[in-house]
Amino acid sequence: MSRKACVVGSGPNGLAAAIVLAQAGLRVEVLEAEPTPGGGVRTMELTLPGFLHDFGSAVHPLGAGSPFFSSLPLQTHGLEWIHSPAPLAHPLDDGTAVILERNLEDARISLGQDGNAWSGLVRPFVENWREFAPDVLRPISGIPKHPWLMARFGMRALLSAKTIAHRFHSERTRALFAGLAAHSFLGLDEPLSGAFGVIFAISVHAVGWPIPRGGAQSLTNALCRYLSTFDGKVTTSSRVESLTALSDNDVILCDVTPRQLLAIGGQRFSESYRRRLREFRYGCGVFKVDYALSGPIPWKAPECLRAATVHLGGNFEEIAASEKAMRNGRHADRPFVLLAQPTIFDPSRAPAGKHTAWAYCHVPNGSKVDMLEKLEGQIERFAPGFRECVVARRVFSPAALESLDANLVGGDIAGGVMDLHQFLFRPTWQHYATSAKDVFICSSSTPPGGGVHGMCGYHAAMRALARVHIR
Ligand SMILES: Cc1cc2nc3c(=O)[nH]c(=O)nc-3n(C[C@H](O)[C@H](O)[C@H](O)COP(=O)(O)OP(=O)(O)OC[C@H]3O[C@@H](n4cnc5c(N)ncnc54)[C@H](O)[C@@H]3O)c2cc1C
Repeated sequence: MSRKACVVGSGPNGLAAAIVLAQAGLRVEVLEAEPTPGGGVRTMELTLPGFLHDFGSAVHPLGAGSPFFSSLPLQTHGLEWIHSPAPLAHPLDDGTAVILERNLEDARISLGQDGNAWSGLVRPFVENWREFAPDVLRPISGIPKHPWLMARFGMRALLSAKTIAHRFHSERTRALFAGLAAHSFLGLDEPLSGAFGVIFAISVHAVGWPIPRGGAQSLTNALCRYLSTFDGKVTTSSRVESLTALSDNDVILCDVTPRQLLAIGGQRFSESYRRRLREFRYGCGVFKVDYALSGPIPWKAPECLRAATVHLGGNFEEIAASEKAMRNGRHADRPFVLLAQPTIFDPSRAPAGKHTAWAYCHVPNGSKVDMLEKLEGQIERFAPGFRECVVARRVFSPAALESLDANLVGGDIAGGVMDLHQFLFRPTWQHYATSAKDVFICSSSTPPGGGVHGMCGYHAAMRALARVHIR
């Protein structure tokens, strides 16, 4: 009789785990609470008919650069990556924008006096991405396959973004780096915030920051289709209330965060494991708006139209102040805003001549404050007349996001704070294993953390296979 596995949740990590288990010959069922698979990787008509918006992830450097996803034939199952001519634009108040080119040599030249410092920071890892990515996207506890490369990275990784930004002479380059580091959801003077900036910079040059044609759902659909070529299936609209109902499986992998794991499986765990799950800390939330637009965004710096991702927040100090406010439980007056403008490069997502935009800013976890004026203020600052282009908008408070994906606790899109402690103990020192020997956790609350890369699911499933003696 073939062995059976159940995966709770069909986010990218749940689907990655399901594929690893199915590839090993297990019969796998994925149970998904929502009517559509994908979790944070879904595309929906959130505003008007014909306008397709990414509910969660929009831009996928780690999706395209993921060692596991890259090993799968996802292109033959409908996934096509689209690269905007430049990965990233960062407009400034003087009406110009810093553009980060994908090609490292082009970037070195365009960053002028800081070009060599930029290149020196990232080049060893850009040139060795295939070796670097598997080592950086795994738990830190094991011995890396490329210790020398990781040691070089480690020397940069513990620094704060503020310290790393001191390498740059120009305010423009410092602003650019601040935007990359702010993806950490940490204060820019905190350890590890620099590592995020460096990893995102590396990914720009090593992989690019692509969007999937048709929206993020295309990635989820390709994963589901590939899973179905094995003995694997996804059952939607099936919220798991208790793991007890799944006890006929050899292994259960949970693409959920610690709070939900406690709720659905608490009675299966030891008291000390339950306590450690309760101690897990969630990070800040996001306040998100999806826009249907009558035309492209009227950027003061028209070169912003070359990039699918635009960072809005001004200079380093201003972005640092925005992130510090959020870390201290306050709301920034001028929040750092991450914006994606996919339809310029993928017209299939909107009616002819029309466009969409996706934008969010960071807010304290569970915030109930309406940030719409402030978020749009930041877009207007760099694109006067933006509001006149808005045909419809859909606002997501942290609670609204959580209502469509239970993993987004308090609007936290990273599965928990990624400070030094929770970088090492995510969610506990056991990482994927729990105190119940057949139950594993595989969401972004495990290493390597948030983002669409599937590597949490991959490593959890490998651990589970070893436990059931299949590997
Ligand atoms: C607004 C937003 C913007 C983002 N932008 C980006 C981006 O541009 N690039 C990027 O790489 N990442 C981005 N992310 C982060 C990315 O989406 C997540 O890191 C990723 O989806 C985490 O994957 P996961 O599988 O761990 O969890 P999720 O994708 O959250 O999936 C968890 C799934 O489990 C299901 N579930 C939960 N509880 C149960 C239950 N009891 N029973 C059954 N099913 C259950 C949920 O419904 C959900 O489908 C963004 C996220 C959001 C929300």
